[in-house]
Amino acid sequence: MNTVATAVSARAKKLSQRRKYELLTRGLGWDTTYQPMDKAFPFDTFEGIKIHDWDKWEDPFRLTMDAYWKYQGEKERKLYAIIDAFQQNNGQFNVSDARYINTLKLFLTGISMAEYASHHGFALAGRNLRGVSARIACQMQAIDELRHAQTQVHTISQYNKFFNGMHNPAYMHDRVWYLSVPKSYFEDAMTAGPFEYITAISFSFEYVLTNLLFMPFMSGAAFNGDMATVTFGFSAQSDESRHMTLGLEVVKFLLEQDPGNVPIVQKWLDKWFWRGYRLLTLVAMMMDYMLPRRVMSWAEGWEEYFEKNGGALFNDLARYGIRMPKYHDVARKEKTRLSHEAWGIFYNYTHAANFHTWVPEPKEMDWLSQKYPDTFDKLYRPRLEYWREQQKAGKRFYNKTLPLLCQVCQIPMGFTEPDDPTKICYRETEYKGDKYHFCSDGCKDIFNDEPEKYVRSWLPVHQIYQGNCFRPGTDPTAPGFEPLKEVLQYYGFHDGMDNGEFLDSPDRYNWEKWTSKSAVAGDRP
Ligand code: FE
Ligand code: ZN
Repeated sequence: MNTVATAVSARAKKLSQRRKYELLTRGLGWDTTYQPMDKAFPFDTFEGIKIHDWDKWEDPFRLTMDAYWKYQGEKERKLYAIIDAFQQNNGQFNVSDARYINTLKLFLTGISMAEYASHHGFALAGRNLRGVSARIACQMQAIDELRHAQTQVHTISQYNKFFNGMHNPAYMHDRVWYLSVPKSYFEDAMTAGPFEYITAISFSFEYVLTNLLFMPFMSGAAFNGDMATVTFGFSAQSDESRHMTLGLEVVKFLLEQDPGNVPIVQKWLDKWFWRGYRLLTLVAMMMDYMLPRRVMSWAEGWEEYFEKNGGALFNDLARYGIRMPKYHDVARKEKTRLSHEAWGIFYNYTHAANFHTWVPEPKEMDWLSQKYPDTFDKLYRPRLEYWREQQKAGKRFYNKTLPLLCQVCQIPMGFTEPDDPTKICYRETEYKGDKYHFCSDGCKDIFNDEPEKYVRSWLPVHQIYQGNCFRPGTDPTAPGFEPLKEVLQYYGFHDGMDNGEFLDSPDRYNWEKWTSKSAVAGDRP
């Protein structure tokens, strides 16, 4: 090495992490001269957000790209060593019982594909923000999200060799009715401006709600013997803490830059709290019904992670003029019924889903009574017991009609009135001569604020009725045409394998054969 190079590398070594970060996020930025900056960054002004000093934006981790690749590379090596060991030891047979695998199907098709969408969204947001440090933070998170999607697919692929319903998650994500819920959530965020995107995902989701997603899935995996999922969860967790910190910084930065930003941010917090909460309906059902060994109830999780932690956070933000998100009181009222209503919907429509449903075992019903003393025995146990009786008589109930969907969250209209859990909550609006339906005041407000956006929603039920969910060449007028069978083909499902009642499923049959113990200790049809 010559002396000049030695001197340069010695100087480079002396740079502190802070100085390196400054150079990366300040020194390397420049203003365009051939074209005006507003033309190079056309999307960061139309939302009305005013930024006076981008230099005030600072990543609290001050992470540089070289450090980023080093940390992430180390984590990848550890993760893949554990996944290898898991596969060689046939770790998939160590889970609590075969019903547990259905949470992985939900995770893979609903959440891993949403991680990929999040990767896409952060790449877009990064391109469209003119502050250098904000662009770099978005770039790192975009790569993180891609890594999450990949590690999750790689981990769960071992289960795909043994269980049904996981063979084509990306294809399903774009087509299957209930997957339109997470898909539309991210597409809504991605088609907003970059500031709304980052407020929606980094703050409302990552900071306020993500504990309610990761805690139950990862603790649920640990409780149910799924060491592979626990491992990718840990590997993602250190990224998660970075994302959460970014989320809080973003919102504080926007609020501090201009008082005119406050009402815009508040409107986004209201909207994205409600959309995120509705998306978590799937998690509520997973926690209370799908984990053979439960971690905590949805209501307990909501109290701990939203009412307590979220409440303290919004108290902190009060000094900027920010209040609790609108309709948080409705979420509080719904917490003792959300999971039961959701499981009811999926029990009805499991013949069109890529995972199985079942009536809980007697001891699981007792757990539900204990966790939901005011609602479960009165409102939900009788219905579940009736379904069990029907099933024993050979009449397992499948709903053969298609449900009305909410125009915004796209969930079937099975939620109930905030003050009456026995009455379905219907809201509607007329727009340009057409009628639109909503599951709640929260979803209706979101529509009314941007009707032109939501009249274009791709609603799975409408699409089926319009004939858009059949494979090319299908003739709906042909004699003996069975619309449901055709839709399942379009979804890429193997009818009788991927879908329907757990007790009748090949998953259960195989599990008993492989482990020669009973998958379900309760009654059999
Ligand atoms: Fe992620
Ligand atoms: Zn809705």
